[in-house]
Amino acid sequence: MGFISLGCPKNLVDSEVMMGLLDRGGARLTTRPEDADILVVNTCSFIDTAKQESIDTILEMAAHKTNGRAQKLIVAGCLVERYGAEIRKSIPEVDAVIGTGELEAILEAAGLQLPAAAPSPFNILAGTKPAELHSGKESQAGTHKHDHEKGREATSRAEGDLREQQGRFSRQDWEGAHPLPTYLYDETTPRLLATPKSSAYIKIAEGCDHPCTFCVIPNLRGKFRSRRFESVVAEARQLVAQGVQEITLIGQDTTCYGEDLGLKDGLADLLDALAQIEGLRWLRFLYAYPNRVTTRLLETIAKHDNICKYLDVPLQHASSAVLKRMKRGADGDIFLKTLQKVRAAVPNVVLRTAFIVGFPGETAEDIATLEGFIKEAKFDWMGVFSYSDEEGSGAFPLEGKVQKRTIEARRRRLMKIQQSVSRKAKQQWVGRELVLLAEGESDETPLLWEGRTQFHAPEIDGKVYINDFGDLEALEAGRFYRAQITEAHDYDLVARIVSGPIA
Ligand code: SF4
Repeated sequence: MGFISLGCPKNLVDSEVMMGLLDRGGARLTTRPEDADILVVNTCSFIDTAKQESIDTILEMAAHKTNGRAQKLIVAGCLVERYGAEIRKSIPEVDAVIGTGELEAILEAAGLQLPAAAPSPFNILAGTKPAELHSGKESQAGTHKHDHEKGREATSRAEGDLREQQGRFSRQDWEGAHPLPTYLYDETTPRLLATPKSSAYIKIAEGCDHPCTFCVIPNLRGKFRSRRFESVVAEARQLVAQGVQEITLIGQDTTCYGEDLGLKDGLADLLDALAQIEGLRWLRFLYAYPNRVTTRLLETIAKHDNICKYLDVPLQHASSAVLKRMKRGADGDIFLKTLQKVRAAVPNVVLRTAFIVGFPGETAEDIATLEGFIKEAKFDWMGVFSYSDEEGSGAFPLEGKVQKRTIEARRRRLMKIQQSVSRKAKQQWVGRELVLLAEGESDETPLLWEGRTQFHAPEIDGKVYINDFGDLEALEAGRFYRAQITEAHDYDLVARIVSGPIA
């Protein structure tokens, strides 16, 4: 069986769950599609380019069915949520489509089943009330209703209930749409890790209740819902017992974690509990919603040595006019105050953000505001995305669409400004001694190795090239070393190993 996972780490965790189920059902996985009897593509549908990549991959895999060994082609993921019926109609090679809320259906689609003795992986959140979960107090914030499909208590936030009434999650225009997903995996769900052996993601929540007008994720992934506190802790313990030393907590908005369970500072409490797991060297979370970065959260990050001093807060823009139309609110000055608060509470914290340029109605003045903000905010890492006009999003009907050419020019200009901010900031790293996770030979040349520090999230930030192993003959991928930064480039660093591996 061959499995291709596209898109973000959240989708990767879904792929790992499906691969775990298939493995438990007796499938053997191969990395070569030409050797597979069954092919699965877990798709992404975030923006147009992601959709195109998903369709191209499905077609590529369909060719293995027409001309090769494959007998079945299964398509899963976000593209199915939106275009499931259309995929079945227009690509006849596709034998089954699996939505993000029915991962267990992968077994039936593959003609497999779990061994009779195996416990059901879907007994999640079974009848558990927040009061029993964590605080001993009855929930104030969350509401509960029985989810008949999964036989569990589903939870929601007041904000999500309100947005639902306003039609935020509506799928009425989607032909043959699946019901809104409510699924969450738990610590008993089989999962086959696809990440390097020392690192793993844990999805702590799914869905999103925010109203951002450029984003269709809430329509695709459903209402915000948190995994049980104890389930996340149990999964983290299992992972560390298996040798994982770096855990990245993920969700559309991890800073809302636990609100639907009635927890006040859910993420801070969760980090506090996880940081105490012996053997867990690096713990981080992606992503923070700007107005949910609380004092308590920052104190928790500062308090524990093994919580990475790293915060990824996608801000999307700095012009109040654009942010208002994006339905995110705030402005550059408010964000600067937030950043000041973060830097004061967590010394040496590394900050990442992302912006969208070319949102409908964005003017040259809005861009000038954003440019000034970028110069002042001095982010360590920054991504700039071109606005993608997604049918079904709140921004789709807005007037004042910006031309593609202009969007690209604005994007390039912002990246140029950041390049100079980053170059200066990275120079200050030279001479610092840091713990480095060795990841393996560089793709560019076998003469160099690549690694990451706690200030580099997996697969996102710049690289650390290792060109000097010190007294060591060789390095081992997945082990941690002490290293000194010897050179800094615009985004990447060069390091030499000082000692290690660290036990
Ligand atoms: S916070 Fe906004 S941008 Fe992020 S997933 Fe939710 S709706 Fe989309």
